[in-house]
Amino acid sequence: MKSNRPENSHQAALLRVLRDGPRSRAELADLIAGPAAPGGFPVSALPVSGVYPHPGRMSRSKLNSELDQLVGLGLVELDGLAASRGGRRSGQVRLSRNTRFAGIDIGATSVDVAVTDGELRVLGHVSEPCDIRLGPAHVLDRVLVLAGKLREQGLFTQLHGAGIGVPGPVSFAEGFPVAPPIMPGWDRYPMRETVSQELGCPAMLDNDVNIMALGELHAGVARQVGDFLLLKIGTGIGCGIVVDGKIYRGVSGSAGDIGHMRVDELGPVCACGNTGCLEAYFGGAALASQAQAAARSGRSSFLAERLAAAGRLSAEDVAAAATQGDAAAIQLIRDGGRRVGQVLAGLVSFFNPGLVIIAGGVAQLGHVLLAEIRSVVYRRSLPLATGNLPIVLSELEDIAGVVGGARLISDHVYSA
Ligand SMILES: [Zn+2]
Repeated sequence: MKSNRPENSHQAALLRVLRDGPRSRAELADLIAGPAAPGGFPVSALPVSGVYPHPGRMSRSKLNSELDQLVGLGLVELDGLAASRGGRRSGQVRLSRNTRFAGIDIGATSVDVAVTDGELRVLGHVSEPCDIRLGPAHVLDRVLVLAGKLREQGLFTQLHGAGIGVPGPVSFAEGFPVAPPIMPGWDRYPMRETVSQELGCPAMLDNDVNIMALGELHAGVARQVGDFLLLKIGTGIGCGIVVDGKIYRGVSGSAGDIGHMRVDELGPVCACGNTGCLEAYFGGAALASQAQAAARSGRSSFLAERLAAAGRLSAEDVAAAATQGDAAAIQLIRDGGRRVGQVLAGLVSFFNPGLVIIAGGVAQLGHVLLAEIRSVVYRRSLPLATGNLPIVLSELEDIAGVVGGARLISDHVYSA
């Protein structure tokens, strides 16, 4: 199918501004400058929600002709008159109400599919348990079934793009996972192309941590922040790096893969074969086995009861125990938080972020974890780096991934 795209960088910049909500023509003229001044930012470098670094103003006639073209492409609608500004009425402009993006968040144990409008508001969201180890053909089939449900609900007839996240390293340029440790059978599977063909729209593939960071950038705690880190602590541990409103992926796409940074040479053996990795201390599996040890050793009667009832323990059990004031569970969270804090303190010194977001299943351990991470980072990084550094929990939780997936593909569709 033909998917309409902007024809030049001015149109792309207009679409990205309108993704944050309707604007009057006068506001758009202020926000979108003409050609960049020498040494200024090119218009195409305009991705950050709420941060528009362009001095200057686009001429009214230029703006109107670009908007006419976007209306012709079916990407923009003119919406009547906005509130008066300085005595003159100014027409309101918004993205087409027919625009639809899909955000697809494939986790280790679940699949989420959502459909959004052009402003990335979630119109419908479906989720089901799904084991990623069953392989790409099975998981894709479930993704298409979930997308079909949303179609049957009348939420879309044609998608304009789909953004996908998977829990492993991704070659962003090639659109496939590369040797993903917890995804057997997925190595170099052409995920981006297959989804694109099946759904009949452009698609983009990234790792789950990066799309969560994009979700927080668009609609979560990072809305007004250009430079931040999102630390995901779940089955694995990873870090989304956002620089100037864009994901930093590194040369081959593995930037932020911090789960296998060594925190102690004499530490436990990790699934990757090395010793003392952060993930071996505080990934979901490590925490579960520490909790089981605490239950069996008699240090926690709460966890022992849970283990006897369910036959296994998870991060959720540790969280429940901590809520009951269980000393062993609180100690596990503090120990893990201290290790995470050690690594994060190094990252903060290196990167000087404006915000750190803690997300993922283990992050549901909540404020005990957050307090420990904060205390280590604030103690070990220099005051200049931490003086104005909020460390907070994710705001979006289980929709961060699908909103971020939609954001990812909209960045692609709204580019020239
Ligand atoms: Zn490791």
